[in-house]
Amino acid sequence: MSDWQKTLKDESIASLDRLAEKFGRDVIDVEALRPAFENFQMRITPAALDQIKEVGDPMWNQYVPTVDELDVVDGVIDSLDEDGDSPVPNITHRYPDRALFLVSPVCASYCRFCTRRRKVGDPEKISLKEYESAFQYLAEHTEIRDVILSGGDPMMLSDSRLEYIFQRLRAIPHIEIIRLGSRITSHLPERVTPEFCEMVQKYHPIFMNTHFNHPSELTPASVAALDRLSRAGVSLGCQTVLLKGVNDDAKVMMKLMHELLKARVRPYYIYMADQVAGGEHFRTTVQKGLEIMQQLRGWTSGLAVPQFVIDAPGGGGKVPLLPEYLEEITDDEVIFRNYEGKRFVYKQPRPAAPKTPAEIAAEKDVVPIRRKKKAKEGKVAAPRTRRRASGE
Ligand code: SF4
Repeated sequence: MSDWQKTLKDESIASLDRLAEKFGRDVIDVEALRPAFENFQMRITPAALDQIKEVGDPMWNQYVPTVDELDVVDGVIDSLDEDGDSPVPNITHRYPDRALFLVSPVCASYCRFCTRRRKVGDPEKISLKEYESAFQYLAEHTEIRDVILSGGDPMMLSDSRLEYIFQRLRAIPHIEIIRLGSRITSHLPERVTPEFCEMVQKYHPIFMNTHFNHPSELTPASVAALDRLSRAGVSLGCQTVLLKGVNDDAKVMMKLMHELLKARVRPYYIYMADQVAGGEHFRTTVQKGLEIMQQLRGWTSGLAVPQFVIDAPGGGGKVPLLPEYLEEITDDEVIFRNYEGKRFVYKQPRPAAPKTPAEIAAEKDVVPIRRKKKAKEGKVAAPRTRRRASGE
C-alpha cells in the first residue's frame, strides 16, 4: 500500500463518532446528525479536515452530512440523465466529439452536493470489469477525440491502473485529448506523487479539471500538488460549483479565482448546483450566479472569469449564462452597458451601397453577349437594350 493509500485509510474520518471526537461532543449535536450518517456515505480526508475551521463553516458544509439530504423536493437521482446517454457501461456520450469515461467508483472525500452521488462510494456501482466494453466503444467511435476520465475520482486508482488506461486510450489513434476530472489536489494532495508525475508525462496531452469551491481549499499542500502537476506538463483548469453557504458571495468567488490563477490553474466553469436529490439545500438562485459574474467580469482580469453554466436537467448539456449587457440591437446600432453600468452605442457596419445601374448592366452583359450570339444564329430573340435591362 502506498503512503497516500495509508493516509486515506488510517487518517480519514468516516464515522459520526470520530467526527464528534475530533470536534467535541459539546460542539456537535450528535443525535441530530445521526439519521444523516445512517443514510449516507461519508469520508473526510485529513487535508479536507484541516480546511474546516469550525462547525458550520463553508468547508464543514461541503463534507458533513445533514438531515437536509433526506429532504427531496425537486431533486432527481440522475439529474443530468447521464445514464440515458450511456451506450455501454461507464461511458456517457452526449456531445459530438467527446465522451465521459467513469473509471473509479470512489473519492477521497465525499462532497454532500455531488451530482453523481448515486454512483460514488459504492465499488459495486461502477464495475471495473466493465472497462473493456468502454474501450471498444471509444475505439469504434472515431468522432471521439476527447475523453474525460471521471467517476468518483480517477486519481483514486493506482498509478499502474491509470497507466493501463492511458496506454489503452493512446492506442486509439483518434483520441487526441485525455482529461482527468479530479478533486484530489484539494482532498489528498499527497496523491500527486513524483512517480505519478513522471508516468503521466508519457501520455500527453493530459489535462486535469480540478475542483475547488472556496479559497480556503488552496492550502500550501494543495498549491504544491498543483505545482507538481504543472511541472509535469499537465494543463490545469478548475470547475467550481456555486453552493449556498459555501461560495455564494462575489468576494469569496473573486478570491478563489485569484488564488487559482496564482497556482497556475485557469478557472474554467462555475456551475449552478445540479437539481440532484439530496443536494437541494445547496442550491441558490440563477440571479445570484449572474450577480456574481457581473461582479467578476470587468472588475478583474478576464483570466479570472470562468464561464457560468447550467448543466441542463435531463441531459441538455452545459448552457452558458451571461449577465444582461445588451439593451437594444437594431440594423443601425447596438446599445449596451459596460461592467460599471455605463451606456455605450456601437454603430453597425453600413450595408453595402446599392449597385449603380452601370454595375448591374455590366453584370447582365454577360447574358446579352450569349443571347446576342444565339440571336445571330436565330435561336433566341435579340437582347433588350441596356436601359431596359437595368430596369430604368
Ligand atoms: S470529488 Fe467529485 S465525484 Fe467525488 S464526491 Fe466530490 S463532487 Fe462527487
